[in-house]
Amino acid sequence: EKSRLTLLGLGAMGTVLARAWLAAGHPLTVWNRTSTRAEPLAAEGATVAGTAAEAVAASDLVVTCLLDDISVGEALSDVDLTGKDLVNLTTGTPAQARARAAWAEKRGARFLDGGIMAVPPMIGAPGSGGYVFYSGSRALFDARQGALAIPAGAMYVGEDPGFAALHDVALLSAMTGMFAGVSHAFALIRKEEIAPKDFAPLLVDWLTAMAPYVYGVAGHLESGDYTKGVVSNLAMMVEGNSTLLRTAEEQGVSSELLTPFMALMERRLAAGHSNEGTTGVIDLLTH
Ligand code: NDP
Repeated sequence: EKSRLTLLGLGAMGTVLARAWLAAGHPLTVWNRTSTRAEPLAAEGATVAGTAAEAVAASDLVVTCLLDDISVGEALSDVDLTGKDLVNLTTGTPAQARARAAWAEKRGARFLDGGIMAVPPMIGAPGSGGYVFYSGSRALFDARQGALAIPAGAMYVGEDPGFAALHDVALLSAMTGMFAGVSHAFALIRKEEIAPKDFAPLLVDWLTAMAPYVYGVAGHLESGDYTKGVVSNLAMMVEGNSTLLRTAEEQGVSSELLTPFMALMERRLAAGHSNEGTTGVIDLLTH
């Protein structure tokens, strides 16, 4: 007999999490603020609770997947969490996760925060590559890993409850930069007779080929030597930036996505670091 779980929040993500646990044979109690969203799950075998308190009372393992940290506080405001294992899969900041952990512990619960690195179709789909970062109570993670690993892979990143959110947001921030670059690239070709569908595989292959650059940056930060293994130096790249900017101008494309990063590269070069790659930009961001 698999252990009973409670899930609060049946939005796009909560609904697929619920289906994954039901499909794996876990008895599941669900609650959603708007009760109509629970109806399809009732038909699939979930027990629907009328209130959050009732839902929490039904299981020792309680998972929240709500809009934001404020929703979590509201949903659990008058709920008895004594002796519960609370796992929060609601996206938030590291500080919100740390505060929520202290709040849960004061109410007598063990706490684990999660950052979901997946979109709904990747949940309950082994091989999709989706996983969840977890941080906080190691004892909770060890005790509940079996159930937690069902919707997507489970990766524990530390006792600091803020670390899951920090890993999550760091990856999303890098993705944001990548999406910015992709947007600029398509803008450059847009008015020409270059089909986006023909350009797309070239872009994917190029980004994939460049991705291991990340390991070089990590090596620089680990050793403190930012010039090690650099094959494209900052002086050359800054020179190349002017070609990127002129091309944008020729194509009638705004360079506003590129210029903030280029300005940092120029500042680092002006400080005398022509033999580095771009790792020195990190120093400018953090000092
Ligand atoms: P949805 O907008 O689809 O659902 C939001 C859920 O939060 C609903 O169940 C909603 O209830 C509930 N809610 C909002 N405010 C409150 C409140 N004050 N009290 C109680 N319940 C409330 O969002 P998702 O399901 O997509 O996302 C849920 C979490 O998962 C978010 O933190 C999101 O960042 C994270 N996530 C989502 C991903 C995605 O691709 N969808 C990917 C990775 C993480 P109601 O139905 O009553 O409005």
